[in-house]
Parts: sequence; structure tokens; C-alpha cells
Amino acid sequence: LAAVHQIRRPRGAPVPEDFAFVTEPMPEPLPGTALVENTWLSVDPYMRENMDGEWELHAPLEGRALGRVVASADPALPEGSLVLHRQGWRTHAAVTAAEARVLPDLPGVAPESFLGILGGTGLTAYVALTRIAALRPGEDVFVSAAAGGVGSAAGQLARLLGARRVVGSAGTRAKADWLVAELGFDAAFVHRDGPVAEQLAAAAPDGVDVVVDNVGGDHLEAAIGALRERGRIAWAGAISQYNAASPPAAPRNLFDLVEKSGRLEGFLVSRHRDAQGELEAFLTPHLRQGTVRDPLTVTEGFGHVVDAFLGMLRGANTGKAVVRVAS
Ligand code: NDP
Repeated sequence: LAAVHQIRRPRGAPVPEDFAFVTEPMPEPLPGTALVENTWLSVDPYMRENMDGEWELHAPLEGRALGRVVASADPALPEGSLVLHRQGWRTHAAVTAAEARVLPDLPGVAPESFLGILGGTGLTAYVALTRIAALRPGEDVFVSAAAGGVGSAAGQLARLLGARRVVGSAGTRAKADWLVAELGFDAAFVHRDGPVAEQLAAAAPDGVDVVVDNVGGDHLEAAIGALRERGRIAWAGAISQYNAASPPAAPRNLFDLVEKSGRLEGFLVSRHRDAQGELEAFLTPHLRQGTVRDPLTVTEGFGHVVDAFLGMLRGANTGKAVVRVAS
């Protein structure tokens, strides 16, 4: 089997030389395990953080993957079944039933959506809106990195949960236009085009009640500035800072939260896995009817998994970035 190992710690932005493709012997399924041939792999921003210390060097790394059981020594993982597991960035993996979820066959729903809007990515958006910010119908929402996986899910979910106006930020004009034309955003701006606070104020002149922030830094500062009385910010991530060597300058306006009786709450989706069933029940009919989309940027081939990861960090993706390893 082929696998990717991290072989050194990055300084700033990671580069291809931080990784190596290695060949390992194909594992025999021992009793209680199954051999999975991976079909889809996920590349995610948290992996950039893991590169600083969480991932051991020269060792298998962790990551979400979808695959087909090709040999099994556990009746709970039947041959031919499709499973979700966390031994990413390898062509094959030996998993136990406790480490893998056998996916249901959902007609009209692509299995790879379990790495996108039906998986941890969509769950992050869902938890941000329903549990952290407790969005109420009629409220106005701002989503940063809105054309990414979490962001595109958050914008669509906000609409379904009854938001009045949904505005987003993205890295290019094409992405911003796509958010409005295809995903139902009311307005979107390009964060590279000028100060984020000014652009958000123009896109949402009356402020917002709820923010899903994926970017941190100047985006978080702008979000605090645009927040209405009793507004809530669900802070999911800080993609603008993951490569930074020193702490960010912004946000400088934290005290505004006191004056606005506002709330800023960080969260990890891993603490909210109990919402997964609720997310699937809520979204599956919408995916079937086409009232929700799961936009994916698909990179073809295991040999390009590192490129897909580095590209995602730079904003090459629209929607969730995934890699198709095999059909
Ligand atoms: P995305 O699909 O959103 O990909 C990352 C995107 O970030 C890029 O496409 C790029 O889009 C944008 N970006 C990169 N650098 C910058 C920058 N300097 N300023 C603004 N935008 C930038 O990834 P995910 O949807 O997987 O993750 C989005 C965020 O959610 C991340 O911060 C991640 O850490 C967080 N997250 C948090 C979880 C939690 O449990 N709290 C779980 C999952 C994700 P663009 O072209 O628009 O700039």
C-alpha cells in the first residue's frame, strides 16, 4: 500500500518537501479487523495545525477517509461495505469496527458527502448555527471563508434555518459571485479587495446577529464590529493564522462585546458528535431534492493528495476539498 508521511515540521506555509510518499506492506486482516481500500480522502485545515506537533514524523497520519471493505475478519464490517474511518492519506487501511462506521446506503446522496456536508464539515456549520450561536428565524448572518467547505454549508444551512440575510466573504470574485448566484447568499465580498471591516459594513449596513467565523484576525475583528446587540459569534477556525509565527494583531475591539452584550464562543466539532444523526435527518431530504448542495473540489489520484492539501490552504478549492483515490 502507499501512504503519505510527514517528514519535517513546516516553517510558515507547508511545502511538498515536508511530506514523503512511502510504500508499506499490505496488512492482513487479523481477527476483529477489516482491510479497506480507500476511495476518497479528506484534506482539512486542522491538518496544518497537526503538522506543528500533533502528527508524528515518519509515521502514519490521521485523517478522514472513505473506503470499501475488500477483506474482512469481522462480521460487523462485511466485505463490500462502505466505511468511514480516520486513517487518512493512504491507499489501504486495516480498521476495527470501533474505528470505522459502516455508511448507510442513501439513495440520491453521494457517499463522498460524508466527507463534505454530511460529515464533520457540515456538522461544524450545523453546530455553529444551532448550538453555539442558536440562530433564530429572521436573524442576519455573516459567514467568513464562505466559499469553503464549512462556509458553504453554513450559508446554506443558515438560510434553511430561517436567516433573513446571509452575507459571506471569499478570496476571489469568482467565488463571491458563485455564493450569490448558486448558493443563495444575499451578498458576498472579496477579502483581498480591501479592509474586511469596511467591506462587511457595506455588505451588511445594519449589522448582523450571528457570525460563523472560519478565518480569525481581521475577519473576527470585522465580525465583532458588525455585531448587533446580543449578537453571537460561533468561532470555528482561524485559517488566516495557521501559518503564522507570531500571534495576530487583531481583534483589537474585544471590548465591543461588553458594550453589545455580545458573545464569542469557540468550539470543536469533536465535542458535538451527538448531533450527527440530527444533521443527517435534516439534510438528507434537502440533498435529494437539490435544495442543498454539497459542492466539492475533487483532486484526482492518491499521488496528488499533498497538492490538494496545499492548494486548499491557499484557497484553490470551492466547497470542500477532497481527493478521489479510486472509484
Ligand atoms: P475550507 O474549505 O474553507 O478551505 C480553507 C479556505 O480558507 C480556503 O479555501 C481559502 O478560501 C480560505 N483562506 C485561506 N487563507 C486565508 C486567509 N489568510 N484569509 C481568509 N481566508 C483564507 O476549509 P474547511 O471548510 O475545512 O475549514 C474552514 C475553517 O473551519 C478552518 O478555519 C478550519 O480550521 C475550521 N474548522 C473548524 C472545526 C471545529 O471543530 N472548530 C472543524 C472543521 C473546520 P478563500 O479563497 O476564500 O480565501
